[in-house]
Amino acid sequence: MSPLPKFVEVKAVYFDLDDTLCTYWDAAKAGLRAAIEAVPVSGLTTETFLAEWAVQFRRFAHELKTSHWYEIYLTQGGVTRVQLINETLQSLGINDPELAWRIGDEYGRQRDERLVLFEDAKVVLRALHGHLPLGLITNGPADVQRQEIETLQIEGFFDHVLIEGELGVGKPHPLVMRRAEESAGCSGRDILFVGNSYHHDIVPAAEVGWRTAWIRRPSDVAPSSQTGKPEAKPDHGPDPDMTVADLREILSELTITVPS
Ligand SMILES: [Mg+2]
Repeated sequence: MSPLPKFVEVKAVYFDLDDTLCTYWDAAKAGLRAAIEAVPVSGLTTETFLAEWAVQFRRFAHELKTSHWYEIYLTQGGVTRVQLINETLQSLGINDPELAWRIGDEYGRQRDERLVLFEDAKVVLRALHGHLPLGLITNGPADVQRQEIETLQIEGFFDHVLIEGELGVGKPHPLVMRRAEESAGCSGRDILFVGNSYHHDIVPAAEVGWRTAWIRRPSDVAPSSQTGKPEAKPDHGPDPDMTVADLREILSELTITVPS
């Protein structure tokens, strides 16, 4: 007799959003390039701007949660988006805050226009919806994440939506997972979490005892990446229950039939 699939007993499934369900980094990279081409900066090539922005992004993202910008970032993504562009321009010798605003606004628009659900995400959300409670746990500013959900038209799939900007705290803080357990009314191995980030999704979910599925996509490369590759699993740390290249692999573990 074959063993029961591992996830049969799951009572709720939570998903991360960016680069788990939708093409965030591809949209961000193409959107920023389009923005700097639409609002050219005299004496500066697109490639020079993008390279310096990636350097500044790495630093800014690292410092954000402990800086005074974090409180603003939680509610309004546009302010820190512009600030990062302003600091990029300044490091290239250009002091023009108004120009930074124009580039930042254009970048926000161009990125949002390019956001799409991955094909496997569409299949999995449609297959699971109505069979068991689904939730979203996403980091980022409240306004940006709400806009993404609206652009992707996915709110109807989810019984629970937890956004860093609305909670005031983001993954990997364990409080986020505890809030999700309260919303779902279950905990531990009854919950499956599906995410693309080892450190922000898999580790905090495993630490509170949830089942985990790590989705690895070739497109999941931050613009500030120094390797040009998706995040690697460190030598130490919890192993995900599943590592998948396509979200549809999860369905077979849940014994939910994929609709034709
Ligand atoms: Mg993500």
